[in-house]
Amino acid sequence: MMELSMYIDGEWRKGSENQKREIINPANGEVIAEAAEGTVSDTRVAIQAARKAFDQGNWPSLSAEERAGYLLRVADKIDERHDELTALETMDNGKPLREAGYDVSDAAACFRYYAGLILAPHGETYNVPDNMQAMVIREPIGVCGLIVPWNYPLLMSVWKIAPALAAGNTIVYKPSELTPVTPTKLFEIFEEIGLPRGVANMVMGAGETVGNEIAVSDDVDMISFTGGTDTGRHIMKAASGNMKKISLELGGKSPNIIFADTDLENAVDFALFGIYAGAGQICSAGSRILVEKSIKDAFIARFVERANKIKVGPGDDPQTEMGPLVSQEQLDKVLRYIEIGKAEGAEIACGGYRLTDRDYGKGFFVAPTAFIQTKPDMRIVQEEIFGPVAVFQTFKDEAEAVKLANDTKYGLAGGVFTRDAAKAMRVIKKVRAGITWVNTYHGTYNEAPWHGYKQSGIGSSLGTYGLDEFLETKQINFNLNVEPIGWFSD
Ligand code: NAD
Repeated sequence: MMELSMYIDGEWRKGSENQKREIINPANGEVIAEAAEGTVSDTRVAIQAARKAFDQGNWPSLSAEERAGYLLRVADKIDERHDELTALETMDNGKPLREAGYDVSDAAACFRYYAGLILAPHGETYNVPDNMQAMVIREPIGVCGLIVPWNYPLLMSVWKIAPALAAGNTIVYKPSELTPVTPTKLFEIFEEIGLPRGVANMVMGAGETVGNEIAVSDDVDMISFTGGTDTGRHIMKAASGNMKKISLELGGKSPNIIFADTDLENAVDFALFGIYAGAGQICSAGSRILVEKSIKDAFIARFVERANKIKVGPGDDPQTEMGPLVSQEQLDKVLRYIEIGKAEGAEIACGGYRLTDRDYGKGFFVAPTAFIQTKPDMRIVQEEIFGPVAVFQTFKDEAEAVKLANDTKYGLAGGVFTRDAAKAMRVIKKVRAGITWVNTYHGTYNEAPWHGYKQSGIGSSLGTYGLDEFLETKQINFNLNVEPIGWFSD
């Protein structure tokens, strides 16, 4: 069994109260690790380490090229340990090896992307009316608190850590209490490549203690959070004490709009991928499938036929196409929503149950599930379930499709399937969401921003926007005519 420690001020540490948390393999319920449980006092020590590292200036004042060098060495080490990290991600989160493998490769690519971007031009100059050179330079913000969820333990962390460090900030990072395994390996890599002490600190533990302390601390200058909308709301309030900058990537209930003129096989394929990849535990999941009425029966029949064939199983079985849910708590939540859907009068088209045959009962497996006969105000239509549960809705024309698509408090993602290019563009422009796709679903790129509308978030990850989140903007007015202004008489 692995023993996982926290990484604070360049040292591996146990929690100050010596508490530990068991880390469970969601495929079989076995304990795979014991993780140090951080306390408020551990968090304060980590914040002070990051504060000192920032204020002493060693990291922010390194040349961008030197910081990029560290990031590139991290990327190389991730690649070297690709198979080990993939296996650990599967063991900790449950996702199939092929999904975990993509995440690990993407994590390395994200470090490389920000190593390159930090060397690109970042300033501007302005022509102003006076004899003045006006310019803008970008500077790091300071100590950044980074808090992430369990659905992409490594990749979500890297989406924050890579741009934060590239920009010259120091960090206090908290992984999800459920999935600290690959984050610990990432910090081993930081130690191995000689990242200066105090620059990157990791505190493990509960959101209510460690996470909350990061959010309220006056010594933290910015908080970048990914997780549920309710937690995001709490963090926003907690961060208001010292007016921290905030960046929030939150939940979703994203529409996948299927028009009758689409290529049906392509649309079914992506609709399945949209909801059942990651066992539905993806913030941008296409969890509401909106189908034009005239093809509803054919579409749903083909969708259900294929959903029933999805190979559900432990992520480390190469045959597995969909893994378990991450925890008992998440399993209970998803099963509860399935009962809510039935009680609300929706009908199950496929799945709707926990898998318990063979050894599955030891893990947290739910069959790919879809509801039909839904109504827009049902809870299963409005609320994020975060599991392999699709809800079908139907529409008669473009206007109704757009209305239904926008009819939740979320605005994270959305897809449109049609052969009519102008219609695709009209509809996607009206979908109130930050991440959208036409005739595809789920592709994410380090180069392009990731951003939620409405209650799905504030600010952006990835791309140039993701780096901007971690930078201040400073105006400098440089006088080219050094002589008294004479505003007041002498
Ligand atoms: P969560 O909100 O329960 O937890 C996320 C993180 O916040 C964890 O590290 C947790 O310990 C911490 N936390 C919990 N309470 C806290 C508090 N009071 N103060 C500070 N930190 C606290 O979310 P989860 O269940 O881990 O993840 C699932 C959610 O994440 C879903 O809603 C999903 O949509 C969202 N998500 C969003 C994105 C995105 O990019 N928009 C990406 C992945 C996941």
